[in-house]
Formats: sequence, structure tokens, C-alpha cells
Amino acid sequence: MEIKAIRGMNDILPEESGRWRLLEDTTRRIFSLYGFAELRPPLLERTELFLRGIGDETDVVEKQMYTFTDKGGDSVTLRPEATACVLRAVIEHGLLGKDPVQKLYSIGPMFRYERPQKGRYRQFHQINAERLGEDGPLADAETLAMAYDLARSILGREALLMEVNSLGCKECRPAFKAELEGFLASRQELLCSDCRRRMHTNPLRVLDCKVESCREAVRNAPLMDRLLCNGCRDHHGKVLEGLGALGVSCEENPRLVRGLDYYTRTTFEITAAGLGSQNAVAGGGRYDDLLSVLGGPQVGGIGFAFGMERMIMLMGEARHRETGCFVVTQPRPDIELASLALISELRSAGIRTEASPGRSFKAQMRRADRSGYPLCAILGEDEVKTATLTIRDMRTASQIKINRAAVLEEVTSLLADRKGE
Ligand code: AMP
Repeated sequence: MEIKAIRGMNDILPEESGRWRLLEDTTRRIFSLYGFAELRPPLLERTELFLRGIGDETDVVEKQMYTFTDKGGDSVTLRPEATACVLRAVIEHGLLGKDPVQKLYSIGPMFRYERPQKGRYRQFHQINAERLGEDGPLADAETLAMAYDLARSILGREALLMEVNSLGCKECRPAFKAELEGFLASRQELLCSDCRRRMHTNPLRVLDCKVESCREAVRNAPLMDRLLCNGCRDHHGKVLEGLGALGVSCEENPRLVRGLDYYTRTTFEITAAGLGSQNAVAGGGRYDDLLSVLGGPQVGGIGFAFGMERMIMLMGEARHRETGCFVVTQPRPDIELASLALISELRSAGIRTEASPGRSFKAQMRRADRSGYPLCAILGEDEVKTATLTIRDMRTASQIKINRAAVLEEVTSLLADRKGE
């Protein structure tokens, strides 16, 4: 019987891996401009970390974790998100003792047992960033600007929408929660069974519920913005001002919430046109208590996560133009040996070179055609005799003869011309 991949877990095939590399390279380039460094936590952590770090009333913890008991009898979980893992590593290695400001990113797979559909998988990948030790509004603005820069450089400015909100803090949120709970109690017949329970313990989660009747129920729910304390109002205003100065275009959305109790003040989401119902590409926000909840110091932070599959879906075809040269050889032992010397010379000069040795001339030409290289170098009896090479432009099918000795110069200059087109 044929063995297939597990539902919701995808292979990334060679034809797509160029786009993945481009997204990763772009991320590293942009994040390093902001002074972020990479931290790579393991994929498997103690289950306890996520119970504490995500909150046991979230969908992720209640329904979606890949949790199992290992051979030593410990409960372990394939990470469903990166923030808790990164903060665990920061605490464990005392990184804030070495430098009280930490700017960290990580890239890699996450695991959630969700119902798979387009844009939603059970193994998916995230780009994650965390900035710890700076509480001011401009740290928020800068972090959001970094997320915006990444989204813009991959998707283009027109295709994306960044929405920002403030969720208040320990001072002002309780009054909001009480008001919200009262509102939800009056509409509880519309709520799903999870939300009926959550509305007393964590009513903000209800605002985030995806069940249609719950969305209907919260349509006219009270909003946080009216109840923000002076500190939060001032912080939020300065975040928006900072974003303006950094050239980020965003919209305020007072309905935007994140379900976690640890989120404080700034919260944001980036959505993209062209993705259907799963249109969120990134989300994040400030958390002032999460580090201490995980056993670390009382230091605040702000972070975000991008869903990479959704970014890749929007990237379309790879923007890389293939570069390099395919070498086609007349199948005669001495000429084949001469072609190996040519191939080696081209590769040593850093030119991507491929051949398909041991096949007929026609089969090699067909392969050269399919491989997508812009140039093909042909070495036959005539070329060997006259110490020349035939270079074929694969797009126009025009051919020129060059001196064998000048091959590096000629091929380099022809490839440079092609790049400029
Ligand atoms: P979250 O960690 O839930 O805040 O999600 C952050 C981003 O990760 C989302 O905006 C999505 O782009 C992406 N994401 C979350 N869950 C999935 C999933 N199951 N499959 C694919 N992408 C996901």
C-alpha cells in the first residue's frame, strides 16, 4: 500500500523551495536591519510551557496541541507557537542578564491539530519576532514597522492591511471585561458552548471566536477604546504617531483582539487580499506579564508571528531568474572528457553548470531546453578541433562561436546581460 503524508502536513517540493528561500532571505535581511538576531529553540517542549505560556482557555491549548508522553513518562508537546519557547530560552540562558534588551527572531515549523483547509495546516511554518526589555510606545512602533516592512517587501503595499488596537492593561482592562461579560450574558443563547464557559473566565476570547453565531452575538459588543486609562491612551496615541513617522500605513480597529490574557496594550494584525477566509498573514502584540508568568523577571515585550504558507501563496511564481549554463557534448569519450574540464572550469568560477552525460546529443539538448538555463555551451568534434565553443541563447535560439580560452569572460558577460533584461 502506498504511504502518504499525514493530512495537513505538506511536502515543500523543489519547484516551491525557491520561494521559501526568498522569503527566509528577505526576513533575515530586513530583521538584521532592525538589529534582530536568530534564536532556534527545539520543536519539542514540556507541555507545561504551553499551558502556562498560551493559557489553558485558548483553542490552541484546549483542542490543538500534539501532546504525548515520551518514553521517560514526561508529557511533551510539539510546539504550536514560538513565543513561549523563545521566552523559555531567554530565561533559561539568562540572556536578559547579559543584555537587558533582547531582539530575537526564529523561523520554523509549528504544529496544531486544526481542520485542514486552504491556508490552514497541521504542520505550518512561522516567522516569529520578540523584542524584550523596552516598554515605550516607540519600541512598539518599530516592531510593527519591521512586520510591515516584511509584509510589504513580499506582498506589495497595496495588497496588505495592517490593523492596530490597544487592549489596555491591568488597570483598565478589568472594567472592560466586566462590561463585556454583562453584555455577553444578555446574549448567551447565541454563544457556542465553549464561549458560554469562557465568557466568565476570559470574555475577550469570545470576541475572537470564529463560530458564526458567536460572531453575530458580539456584533455590537462594547469596545475597549472608551475605557482605556490615561497611560494606555497616551501609549496608543504615541504608537500611532511613531508608525506615521516610520512611514507605515495602518488603520485603527477597536474590534481587534487577541485571545491571550497576557496581551497588554498594543495589538495588531496584518491581512492580505487574495487569500479567502484565511486572510491573516501576521498577528502580534505587547505582553507585559508573559515573561514573569513563565518564571522570568517582570520585563515586558512585544512580538509577532507571520504564517509562511500564506505569504508563499501570495508570492506567485519565484522571482528568481534562473542563471547558469547547460553543457551539451557530442557523445565521444575524448570530447566527453574535454567537457568535464569545461564544466569544472565554469563551476570553479561560480557559474551554475549542469550537464546530462552519457546520453545522446538530442536527449541532452532536450534536457537543456527543459532545465531553464539561459545559456547552453555546445562542445562537438568541430569545436574541439578549432579550440572553440558554441554558445546558444536558449530564449532566442541564436548561436555564437567563441574561443574556448575566453569561455569564462564570454559566459559571465552574457549572463550579466541576461540579468539586466
Ligand atoms: P497565531 O500564532 O495564531 O497568532 O498565528 C499567526 C499567523 O500564523 C497567522 O496570521 C497565520 O498566518 C499563521 N497560522 C496560524 N495557524 C495556522 C495554520 N494552522 N496553518 C497555516 N498558517 C497558520
